[in-house]
Parts: sequence; structure tokens; C-alpha cells
Amino acid sequence: MTNSAYQEIRNIVGPKGVVEKKLNQEKYLTEWRGYWRGSCDLIVRPNSVHDVSSIVKICNNQSIPITPQAGNTGLVGGGVPSGGIVLSLDRMDKILNVNASNSTLTCESGTILKNVQAAADSADRIFPLSLASEESCLIGGNLATNAGGVHVVRYGNMRDLVVGLEVVLPNGKIWNGLRSLKKDNTGYDLKHLFIGSEGTLGIITRCILKLFPKPQQISTAFVAAKSIEKIIKLFLKFSKFAGETLSVFEYMNSFSVEIATNSIKGNRYPFSDFYPNFVLVELTSSNQNNELALTMESILSDAIADGTILNAVLAKSIEQRSNFWRIRETIPEAQNFKGASIKNDISVPISNVQKFIEEADKATSQIVPNIRHISFGHIGDGNIHYNLSQPKNMEKSAYLENRNVLVETINDIVQKLEGSFSAEHGIGLLKKNELTRYRSNEEVELMKMLKRMLDPRKIMNPGKLL
Ligand code: FAD
Repeated sequence: MTNSAYQEIRNIVGPKGVVEKKLNQEKYLTEWRGYWRGSCDLIVRPNSVHDVSSIVKICNNQSIPITPQAGNTGLVGGGVPSGGIVLSLDRMDKILNVNASNSTLTCESGTILKNVQAAADSADRIFPLSLASEESCLIGGNLATNAGGVHVVRYGNMRDLVVGLEVVLPNGKIWNGLRSLKKDNTGYDLKHLFIGSEGTLGIITRCILKLFPKPQQISTAFVAAKSIEKIIKLFLKFSKFAGETLSVFEYMNSFSVEIATNSIKGNRYPFSDFYPNFVLVELTSSNQNNELALTMESILSDAIADGTILNAVLAKSIEQRSNFWRIRETIPEAQNFKGASIKNDISVPISNVQKFIEEADKATSQIVPNIRHISFGHIGDGNIHYNLSQPKNMEKSAYLENRNVLVETINDIVQKLEGSFSAEHGIGLLKKNELTRYRSNEEVELMKMLKRMLDPRKIMNPGKLL
């Protein structure tokens, strides 16, 4: 990067908009788990779309790489810089409008997800995207990764929660697609090009999000079942009899629950007996007159009577509900106590989930005997976080030597079952080889054509995704 480009960019953002102290730079250069550390010539934090546009114009003219960054909680290395500039959106954090009549919220892309949820709540609405990283991730990062989370089963993923976008294109021009319309069939729906594009096609600067009525009733249960087959049967029962009130359906295998209740202080195992599979179910309704607890009880009683489930506990207090949620949410933290973990974020059609778990458990145990399976996640969306912990008496380094063969074996099973090797987290740096291995040449070539057309100088997040 030339000195004059450096000075020009510095002049645009002013001293507050550059991160110069080495100590402060670290969080922009290092992936949060420390898996990757990048480097760059400058870290900028503009605070308006016009500043973003001016910076991108300079970078485009001089072919300076740009790594857009939001909360840096991504799990595939998409925000790790490799030269050029890091463009952080973290100062563009204003909520611009909450419109209760339109049920929309307009904000800058650097707004923390938790703050969007709070602003919706103040207007007696909800913004339903919910992830364990919600206090740190920013809306722009959620959009750029098409984030999922625990409510997809009811509200869809980020793609389904947006009505309008504003994007600074790689040539620095601003595309204003901030329209809060439910119906708008005026040619290609351009916003979907940028959602899930991981910063490779442009920089998302503002958005209009959909809000939903606030639940007036919540009913939560922790359920035990014999097999995945039974869990899927239970899901179909809830889909049929609870309809759109089914808001959460989260799977946990026995080892996940065991580690979350044994290793994390304060978590309490909800049953007195041991079971092989569990699911956290939540129904919510914005209708005060809807007898939600009765619906929950009647579906669960029916499921016990016909052998679909083995046991169930209904949350009778806020404390009990929090305990159920903490068990689910602390599984990733608890697995850190079990040594090295090889993580997979896969999805298959619901009808193939059982086959996937059976085949993957068998194949991975053949490769590493006594490997420990930690599978949990959004089973209602066919999405399993299929994590593999090292066997008790194996050296960490010896175990990790099996990483490639384990991941490839799992992804081959996923491919055979018509699934996806990356259900939620994207491609970034981590899954580039998988993209070319598991997607057709035509599909990858189409992506490359779009990239060449929009970003001929390849300045936007180079080295990621493609
Ligand atoms: P970053 O990590 O900063 O960026 C992610 C990607 O988007 C990068 O490629 C970056 O270049 C690009 N980008 C960022 N901002 C912009 C912008 N304004 N314009 C264009 N490109 C941009 N993900 C899920 O989907 N579901 C989950 O349930 C989930 N749970 C998680 C739990 C934990 C504990 C953690 C740590 C992560 C979890 N994630 C989950 C992953 C992560 O939180 C999400 O992917 C999140 O959407 C990333 O947001 P971010 O602001 O941190 O983005």
C-alpha cells in the first residue's frame, strides 16, 4: 500500500477511524479462537456509508485488498486479513428507525445483534435471529454469513429476515436497495447476491430487517428419546399439531448433555435416569388465549403413550427454562474440557438425519476407535453440529492427524445423503477445498463469473470463499 493511499484513507476517517496502537490491532488481526492470525497495512473504522464508499474507491483504483469485518465471531476464517486494509464496520452502529406499523427496523450494519433485539423489544416486537454469539456479532456479519441459529425452524435464517439492503460495491458506488416492501418483483432480487457472500462482492452498510409479534406465551420442555428415528417422529408430531408455534427444536446426544451438566457449574441434569438422546422444544405464541402449555402437554403425553419418547420435563419456572437453555448453549464450551475437537456443521434433508448419524458414527469410530461423538444442534432444520472429541487415552497431536480423513469421510456421507458440508458457517478460508469438491463445476463457475463481473480487480476479501 502506498504512503499516499494510506494518508488519503487516514484523512477520510480522521484519527478516531484508524487503529494504530499495536495492542488494539490484535482483535482485528486474530480469529477469536486463535486458529488464524492475519496481517494488513491499515485497520480503518469508517462511520458513514460515504466514508466507506470513498475508501473503497481508493482501494479499487490502486488494487488494495479489503477485508470487511464485523464482530469477528465467524467460524471459518472469513474475516482474517491478508494484506491491504481491514475495514471494520464496528463504528457504524446506529439504529435508524423502528417502524411498528411496517414491522421493520432500519439500522447500520455495525449494530450488535443483541442491540437490534433490544430495540425490537422496546417496540413490543421481536427480531428472532438468535445465536450464542449475539452479544458480539454485528448485523452486517450476520447478513454476510446468512446466519442461522435456534429459531430458523420457525422464522427462517437471515436471508428470510431482511427486506432491504444498502451495499457499497467494489468500485465504490453505493447501491441503495433500502425498500421496506413485502412485494417487489422488479427484476433480479439483488439483495440475495450479497447475503451470504462473506464480504467477497461488496460491503453491506445498512439494512431493513423484519420484526415479528412478541410472544405472549412460551412453553418449554426437555425431552428424552431412544433414537434419532424417534426424535424425528416427535418433530413431525410437533410440526403437525403445534404448527407455527413450534419455535425451537434442538437436538443433543447423551454425551453432549453429560459434558454440559458435569463440566459447567450451575447446569443441572433434568432427569433421574440416563437416556441416549434429548431434544429441547419450545412453543411460543403471540396469542394470549392460545393454551400453549396444554398443546405441549397433549403432544408429549401422546408421544409417551405411543412410545415416541421415553420421558419429558416441562419448565415450570423461568429458572427451570434457563437451566434447559444453558445445557444446550454450553455444550460448545463444555467440549473444550474434553481435549481436541474436530467440528463439522452439516445439514441433510430431515428424512436423512437418522441415516447420517448412524453412518457417520460408525465410519468415524472405525477410523479412530473410541472417538467421542458430540452431536447437537438445529435438528428441526436438518442441521447437526457433528463434533468429534479425542478418545480419552489418545495424544492430542496423534488424534488431530486424523482430521482430514475424518472430515472427508463425514462430508462424503453428507454428499451421498444430498446435504451440505456447511449448513450455517459459510466457506471462508476453512472450507474452500470442499466447495470445489462437493459443488459442481457449473455452480462454482457461476460464482466465479459473478465475482469477476462485480469485482474485476479482486479487491473484496481476496482468498476467501472462491
Ligand atoms: P465476522 O466474523 O466479522 O464476519 C463474517 C464474514 O462476513 C467475513 O467473511 C467478513 O469479511 C464478512 N463481513 C462482515 N461484515 C460485513 C459487511 N458489513 N459487509 C460484507 N461482508 C461482511 N452462526 C450461525 O449461523 N448460527 C449459530 O448458531 C452460530 N452460533 C455461534 C456461536 C458462537 C459461540 C460463535 C462464536 C459463533 C457462532 N456462529 C453461529 C458464527 C458467527 O457468530 C456468525 O457467523 C455471525 O453471523 C458472524 O457475525 P460477525 O459479526 O462476527 O461477522
